[in-house]
Amino acid sequence: MCLSKPTVAGDAASGSSASSSCTGMQSNRTCSLRDVCSSAGNGIKHRGNKDSQTKEVEDSLGYKEENAVYKENEAASEVLAHQQKQQEEAEEEYIPQIRWPDLGAQSFLHAGALYGIYLLFYAKLYTFLWVAVTILVSGIGITAGAHRLWSHKSYTASLPLRVLLAFAFSIAGQRDAYTWALDHRIHHKFSETDADPHNAKRGFFFAHVGWLFLTPHPKVIAKRKVIDMSDLEADPVVMFQRKYYIPLFALCSIVLPVMVPWYFWQESLWMSFWINFNMRFCWTLNVAFFVNSVAHMWGRKPYDKNIMPVEAPLVSLVALGEGWHNYHHVFPWDYKTGEFGSYTLNITTGFIDFCARIGLASGRKFVSPDMIKRRAAKCGDGSRFLSDDYAHKDQVWGFGDRDLPREDLAELAKMQN
Ligand SMILES: [Zn+2]
Ligand SMILES: [Zn+2]
Repeated sequence: MCLSKPTVAGDAASGSSASSSCTGMQSNRTCSLRDVCSSAGNGIKHRGNKDSQTKEVEDSLGYKEENAVYKENEAASEVLAHQQKQQEEAEEEYIPQIRWPDLGAQSFLHAGALYGIYLLFYAKLYTFLWVAVTILVSGIGITAGAHRLWSHKSYTASLPLRVLLAFAFSIAGQRDAYTWALDHRIHHKFSETDADPHNAKRGFFFAHVGWLFLTPHPKVIAKRKVIDMSDLEADPVVMFQRKYYIPLFALCSIVLPVMVPWYFWQESLWMSFWINFNMRFCWTLNVAFFVNSVAHMWGRKPYDKNIMPVEAPLVSLVALGEGWHNYHHVFPWDYKTGEFGSYTLNITTGFIDFCARIGLASGRKFVSPDMIKRRAAKCGDGSRFLSDDYAHKDQVWGFGDRDLPREDLAELAKMQN
């Protein structure tokens, strides 16, 4: 059963994200949706022979086969071929250009943040505490809001919670939730290809911050047009935040954090600006950047060694639980974004669980321990379940073993002619 929509044919990126949606498949090779789903015509009716249970699950997820990106359709194929040709022409000419206003903004933010750190030594205690609170609140807006809720639909949030998260995310000032989620969905679906907005294969600096002030690759622009965002378009909270983003940014990210210390405990406005806007903004920005850079480069890959994302506990500590990135790219629908339930290294999970307890959140999706073990044994780097029985669960003794993967049998049948 292929629950997720497969990617556009021929995109090498789909390997990583696609493989995560094929956990039921029993193949040792890298799981490619194109391989799996196209084999339908060769005897394995993944879509044609849907039983009622599969249909029910697909209906509950809002899955529609006719919307599948891969679906063969002559007219669509022609359009796709045309787009591909245009893309190839554009790629030949693609040389990233510096977007000077964005580079200027990043330079200002980072230089100002250093000054803010210096001023922190002279700030009032309450100002210090206030900056910690706003970092935490805006961080939750990113992790529980833009990321786990709006990008991945890993749980359902009630209207009051969505309003709260949109407010918290506006404090962070990292663009509107719709735009953030769009790029993040592309990042997962086309991870580490030219279509990935912060493709880690282009190096640490590009993945960390360079992507924000360089012109995007044409493939990124193309993919922004095909990703399904209908769920967010139907969310009035997201669309409101998008429509009024500029005033919301000014109010929530600048005026509120800067004015509170000035009004309530007479901190100087000068001091408050550099600490509570500039430094605070820059801190959360860089923490998010670490997930794109560090958590895609250095660490273990217990769940899939064929992709770049890694498990980065230190990133998790500062990013409120977002550093378990190998796991997260394999199971992006898990609201915990990590295997283990410790709240210390995953404050966001604690927040969502608390919201669920008081009735503000529901429908938390997670992965069964069995599914995790199977996946780790099959695709992991061996740092997990090395001596576990699961490491041998999917092995076969030879032709005739009943556990031989169905898709392999189908290919074998073809080859024997
Ligand atoms: Zn994600
Ligand atoms: Zn990532």
